[in-house]
Amino acid sequence: RWIRGIGEIQQADDGDYLAGVLHEITEQKLNEIRKNDFIGMVSHELRTPLTSMKGYIQLLQIRLKNQQDNFIDVALKKANAQVTKMTSMINGFLNISMLESGKITLDQETFDLATLVKEIEDEVVATLGSHKFVFEPIQSNLVNADRNKITQVIHNLIANAVKYSPLGTTIHVACSLHNNTAKVSVKDQGIGIKQEDLTKVFQRYYRVEGLHMNSTSGFGIGLYLCAEIIGWHKGAIWAESTLGEGSTFTFTLPGVGG
Ligand code: ADP
Repeated sequence: RWIRGIGEIQQADDGDYLAGVLHEITEQKLNEIRKNDFIGMVSHELRTPLTSMKGYIQLLQIRLKNQQDNFIDVALKKANAQVTKMTSMINGFLNISMLESGKITLDQETFDLATLVKEIEDEVVATLGSHKFVFEPIQSNLVNADRNKITQVIHNLIANAVKYSPLGTTIHVACSLHNNTAKVSVKDQGIGIKQEDLTKVFQRYYRVEGLHMNSTSGFGIGLYLCAEIIGWHKGAIWAESTLGEGSTFTFTLPGVGG
């Protein structure tokens, strides 16, 4: 593409066309930088917990016998947490590679989106005591979509709301139906997102710079996958936010009806 791009520049006598090609090259460079950052981040994510596990196991070798249980406990907890994290990371990568090789197909069925949202929320509430959840359902909200993939989208949005907002704050999940368009939104009282990053967060590997980078882990692929999944369903997804006050992520799907 570089060579094609450069060849095109030499032939171009139209200013707009030249600007377009240059823009393409800049985008490509940016993608490369992002990819390098991403690889660095992945190796950091993989190394840090393993190094700490190794430390505890080494301590086991030198400490008194009656403290061993405690160290084994810590090592096991860390191993479990790491396995969960690696599983979700590998699933994310698998989804991306399937997506890029065009191997993803939609397995569509008609189901009630409001019921699905409620089920997911109940599951999250049962496993996470850290936030308050408020659900604003409507009676029924039929869509024809891939249930598993839409489940993944709602899971990602709720997981992000939890991850990027302080403990004890409220997360509102709303589900509505207007003009045969189903709409789900997840609103948090978290760190918020700057105006200029509101669309970038849906790009692959993009994470907003800031202090929260140290306290949260991630790879910048969750929202990219959400956007792809909603795009295949001919829906829309977007974010609104006030920095320091919170964010709302909303997606729509065509409703079933006439
Ligand atoms: P990840 O959370 O794994 O980094 P995502 O693709 O899910 O990846 O999100 C991309 C980025 O968007 C995050 O790194 C974060 O900077 C920002 N972001 C996502 N959801 C929220 C949210 N609810 N509040 C604030 N920032 C968010």
